[in-house]
Amino acid sequence: MTAIAIPAMPPCDHVPAPYTGPAKTEVLELRQRHCNPAIFTYYKEPLMIVEGHMQYLFDETGRRYLDLFAGIVTISCGHCHPKVVSRAREQLERLQHTTTIYLHPLLGEFAGQLAGKLPEGLDVVYFVNSGSEANDLALTMARLYTGSYDVIALRNGYHGGISSMMGLTSLHTWKYPLPQGSGVHYAACPDPYRSPYQGTPAEIARQSARDLEETIRFSTPGKIAAFIAESIQGVGGVTTGSPEYFQQAYELARKHGGLCIADEVQTGFGRTGDHYWGFQHFGVVPDIVTLAKGMGNGIPLAAVVTRPQIARTLAQRLHFNTFGGNPVSMAQGLAVLQVIDEENLQENARITGGHFKNGLERLMASHPLIGDVRGRGLMLGVELVRDRKTREPAAPQTALLLEKARDLGVLIGKGGLYGNVLRLKPPLCITREDVDFALEVLDLCLGEIEKEEGL
Ligand code: PMP
Repeated sequence: MTAIAIPAMPPCDHVPAPYTGPAKTEVLELRQRHCNPAIFTYYKEPLMIVEGHMQYLFDETGRRYLDLFAGIVTISCGHCHPKVVSRAREQLERLQHTTTIYLHPLLGEFAGQLAGKLPEGLDVVYFVNSGSEANDLALTMARLYTGSYDVIALRNGYHGGISSMMGLTSLHTWKYPLPQGSGVHYAACPDPYRSPYQGTPAEIARQSARDLEETIRFSTPGKIAAFIAESIQGVGGVTTGSPEYFQQAYELARKHGGLCIADEVQTGFGRTGDHYWGFQHFGVVPDIVTLAKGMGNGIPLAAVVTRPQIARTLAQRLHFNTFGGNPVSMAQGLAVLQVIDEENLQENARITGGHFKNGLERLMASHPLIGDVRGRGLMLGVELVRDRKTREPAAPQTALLLEKARDLGVLIGKGGLYGNVLRLKPPLCITREDVDFALEVLDLCLGEIEKEEGL
């Protein structure tokens, strides 16, 4: 019997500090006793992470892992990126918080730099602390501006966990049995893989757009406040539509009086490679853009960016957000923008992400468990199925793959309504060597599972 070589992680000269905190059993016990059970951990044996360095994480024993999930698509520059940390630390030591009732130079500076990254006209920013808050505020502005109430979202979309966003999210796994989604209607997800429609991508786009129009005609007064969509659905399992779909959807939404909202919470800040923002792949310009996650490289930082006339609607009443725009978040956000540019992270997402996707497509040729490989840049998804014809989701096999990859030092995310999509969305500083290592690990794990399951 030939021994199978264990893939070797590329070297890294960062040495984690010796861990001196409480034992993992104690940490788990306290969490189980005092933290709401809704917060869940990955893996049968939960993983404790105590240090991070760029694309790597370290557990309490000092073991290193390649992070392919980036704190759920939030670490853009790299864990504890030295430039980001030093700028935030400097600000923390000078002034942490006053709220926006006083002037501070960083608020306008960061808003201006963000606006500079967006298409002309999207000039006005409101800072908040989470993607959910940003989307909630975007809907408020769209409703006030248009005088309409109804909103069209896409099936399989995720827009946040607060109750208003639970209503906008279209995945039953994330919904409690409570009143929700007042005025929200869901149109067909335009992604071809599990589309109810058949035909070429252009045909699926056309039929999905038709469903959107019918939803407006049958479920609303014929006038809507907004159409909202992720450029690539993240939680839904890296699903998206063709540019033609988004062009038609934007046109239809506007024809019925609605604003177009791009949820760029996962797809922003260069992650998708060819463009800084996900919507740019479709050749459309939204009226409102929501940002979070990668914007702060780990700090609670989010924003709504829109045109001045739309932003003005909020000024008719008092509106306030205690932590939105605090100097530490602003400093960290400015450092993130700078690092993404200086270190060509968008270009790295394009090139290294392209290399990753090619490798995944090659794996698909030899692994029947892989039903679909999709995504752009460093926002990639691999859908696992028991049978390529029926597309029966392979959820237990996905969970098993996550366990096996962890054992070999690779941390992967999962998503999709059935929990059968591998989410590969690493920090944007990941290297080609890291990707080659990850591909070897995936190859090995997929092979083992296929053998065990007789696939
Ligand atoms: N929109 C999208 C596309 C998301 O992926 C998420 C979070 N997964 C949110 C909104 C909500 O962000 P938060 O968890 O910061 O509220």
